[in-house]
Amino acid sequence: MAKIKPPVNKNETLELEFVDLTHEGSAVGKVNGYPLFVPYGLPGERAEVKVVKVKKNFGFGKLLKVLDQSPERIEPPCDVFYQCGGCQLQHMSYEMQLEMKQKQVQDALRKIGHLEDVPVHPVIGMEDPWRYRNKVQIPVRGVEGRLETGFYKKRSHDIIDMDTCPITDEQNDRMVEAVRRIAEDAGITPYDEDNHKGTLRHIMVRNGKETNEIMVVLVTRTDKLAFKDKLVEEIHKAYPNVKSIIQNVNSERTNVILGKKTKVLWGEEYIHDSIGDIKFKISAKSFYQVNPVQTKKLYDQALDYANLSGNETVIDSYCGIGTISLFLAQQAKKVYGVEIVPEAIEDAKENAKLNGIKNAEFFVGAAEKVMDWWKAQGLRPNVIVVDPPRKGCDEQLLKAMLAMKPDRIVYVSCNPSTLARDLNILGEGGYVTKEVQPVDMFPQTSHVECVAQIELK
Ligand code: SAH
Repeated sequence: MAKIKPPVNKNETLELEFVDLTHEGSAVGKVNGYPLFVPYGLPGERAEVKVVKVKKNFGFGKLLKVLDQSPERIEPPCDVFYQCGGCQLQHMSYEMQLEMKQKQVQDALRKIGHLEDVPVHPVIGMEDPWRYRNKVQIPVRGVEGRLETGFYKKRSHDIIDMDTCPITDEQNDRMVEAVRRIAEDAGITPYDEDNHKGTLRHIMVRNGKETNEIMVVLVTRTDKLAFKDKLVEEIHKAYPNVKSIIQNVNSERTNVILGKKTKVLWGEEYIHDSIGDIKFKISAKSFYQVNPVQTKKLYDQALDYANLSGNETVIDSYCGIGTISLFLAQQAKKVYGVEIVPEAIEDAKENAKLNGIKNAEFFVGAAEKVMDWWKAQGLRPNVIVVDPPRKGCDEQLLKAMLAMKPDRIVYVSCNPSTLARDLNILGEGGYVTKEVQPVDMFPQTSHVECVAQIELK
C-alpha cells in the first residue's frame, strides 16, 4: 500500500474549524479528513492553530488565537488553568461540560460495549460546580531555600506555584498554605525528587463536609521528622478543628503518593463525615469519594437500581470504607463487603458499629479471589454491586458474578471505557443493561462517574 502523507507539517500555522470534542476535552478539527486535536478549543469555533505533533493518522495542535468564538466559551476563574494538569474544562460552560460527558458515555457504550440501545440519561450536575473537593494532595519542592507547594504542570513534575485551587474546599486550600508556612518556619527540608533527598514530599488535607473535622497528613521520605512537636502545636493553634495529624512515611522513589507506614502525630487516626443518615470514620489511607455533595446522589442512584425490599442478600465489591454497603444494609437482609486495603476494612467494620448496623460483614482481600471463595461456600446473592477503580472489574470477578447468577447487578464506574467493556462481557453472560445514569463527580475535569442498572435476562 502506498504511504499516505499527513496533509500538515509540524510547526505549520493554519486556520481550523472545530467540529467535535475528544474525551479529554480537546477540540477536533479536520484537514482533508485528517484530525487535529487542539486543547482549549470548542466545537463551532474557528481558530488559528499551530501544528505541534504529526502522527500517521492524527496530529496535535496548539490554540494560538480564537477567530470565531463559541457562546459556550467562558473565562476560566483559575489563574493557572492553562498550565496546570488538574482541570481540562474550565474554559467551557458547565452546560456544555455535562453534555460532553453524556456523549462520552454514549460513545463508549456504542463503540466499546457494542450496546446501541441502552438509554444514557442526562448527567446529574452540581448547582455550584466549584470548591467541591474534600481532599487535596499537594507536592512540596524546594525553590531557592523555600518550600513551595502547587500542582504539577501538565505531563511534567515541575510545580506551579499557586495560591488557590478553585475546585478545592476553601478551608483545605488555606490549610495547605498554613502547613507549608509552618513547616518552612520549623526548618523542615523539602523533598528533592532528582536526588531522593530531603524530608517533606506531600501535604494532604482532607475534611468532613458535614462534621468540619480536618485531617492533615505529612508525607515524608524518612521516618525521622525533626521539629514534629513544634509542627503539631502550630498546626493545631492555627486550626482548632484539626482532629488528626498524621505522618505517612514513603521512602521509595515513586510517583505513588502514600507509603505503607502511617503514624499518628496528634489526635485520632481518622476523621468523621456523614452522607445522608450514615456517619463514617475515614483514615488516611482509605478511599473516600472526593465530592460529598454528588456522592449522596450517586449512592441514592445505586440504591434505587438495587431495588431492595428487605429480604435480599447483597455483595458490595470494592467497598472501600463500607459507604455503599451501609447504605444498602438499611434496606437489605444481609450485606457482604470486600475490599483490598486492610485499613479501609477496619474503617468499614467500625462504621457498621458506629451506625448500629448489624447485618453487614466485611472482608479484606482481592474482590476476584474472595468472590470465588464465596461462590465455593454456596453464597447466592440476589444483588451484586461493584465499584472498581479505573481499570474496571477483574475478569475473574466478572466470571464469578456470572456463575453466582444474581437477579441484579449495579455497576458504579469512574471510567466509561472499562464500564462499556465489562457490560459487554456481562451481556454475553446473560445480563441486560437497562440504563446508565452519569453523575458529575468531577466538574471542570473530563472525568465522569456512572451507575448502570443490569438485570438477568
Ligand atoms: N465503593 C467505595 C470505594 C470505591 S473506590 C466508595 O464509594 O467509597 C475502589 C476501591 O476498590 C478502593 O477502595 C480500592 O482500594 C479498592 N480495590 C482496588 N482493587 C481491588 C481489588 N482487586 N479487590 C478489592 N478491592 C480493590
